[in-house]
Amino acid sequence: MKNRASGAVIVFLSCLFGPTAFAQNSTDAIDAHLIAAREAAGFDFTGTLARLCVAPQPVPNTLRDVAPGPAPARDTWFAEPAKVFDNLYFVGSKIHNSWALTGTDGIILIDTLWTYNSEEEIVGGLKKLGLDPAKVKYVIISHAHPDHVGGAKLMQDRFGSRIVMGGPDWDSIEKSVNGYPEGKPKRDIVADDGQKIALGDTAVILIATPGHTPGTLSMIFTVKDNGRPLTVAYSGGTAFNFPSTVGNFDMYIKSQSKMAAAAAAANATVFMSNHSEFDYATTKIRLIASRKPGEPHPFEIGKEAVARYFVVTGECAQAARLKLTQPLNQ
Ligand SMILES: [Zn+2]
Repeated sequence: MKNRASGAVIVFLSCLFGPTAFAQNSTDAIDAHLIAAREAAGFDFTGTLARLCVAPQPVPNTLRDVAPGPAPARDTWFAEPAKVFDNLYFVGSKIHNSWALTGTDGIILIDTLWTYNSEEEIVGGLKKLGLDPAKVKYVIISHAHPDHVGGAKLMQDRFGSRIVMGGPDWDSIEKSVNGYPEGKPKRDIVADDGQKIALGDTAVILIATPGHTPGTLSMIFTVKDNGRPLTVAYSGGTAFNFPSTVGNFDMYIKSQSKMAAAAAAANATVFMSNHSEFDYATTKIRLIASRKPGEPHPFEIGKEAVARYFVVTGECAQAARLKLTQPLNQ
């Protein structure tokens, strides 16, 4: 992503993490992790770097169980649906991603936005693309935060889609008192680490990556670009908005290494996520429209770049973890 905006972010980060600016308030160890993250991010993952290394906020030990706020103005979130690969469609918003993976026996939907926009973006988006929402057989939820699980109940109630989620995240939905004023999805398929959700000629491999939430799922699946198969590494949870404890950071860091290994073993050359902030989905979708024959697909970044993504998340988490153990340096 070589554009002026990301260049500006790099200049900003260089000032912030430069050897003189950081020396007074931090240890060499923290600095080393931040520099490693910045180098791994390059121009490809400035959004992830900014979120995790520049602006992570400490989170209290008890997460609040609150109702989602009112729907924001439609023009702040609405995005048109789009075909992204031969068998993968975007039905997300400007900020959050939802993906429809199509196969011979139906559709696997990955993530479901908020309750307020899932009807228009997902159900409406599939119809606009000529796809039948009733053919969504599985809905995989990366984690049970309201910006990804919002449409699960709709898909379950209206189309009988099977909902797949990590066990601890099903638990958090069941325990929530205030989080689901319009009703909760009923517990359905509890994901196992390594489980394959297969549907006709397509399938998604689930990788348990606890950290962002205790039940976070990442994924490996295959898409086709003009018939050419490509492997996608899908990161299911990114920000550090879990209680800031050393144990939680250890869990998160372990999951980043685990997903990096799974992506490498599967030879993943495409990186995707559930926020445009992390995978630039909305920008890349615009680029697809002007792609010329022979040009690489904007989402195909290569195996080495996919690996660097998980270095960014892991190194930023290492820095944040060290800051917890050195309160005088915060
Ligand atoms: Zn989340």
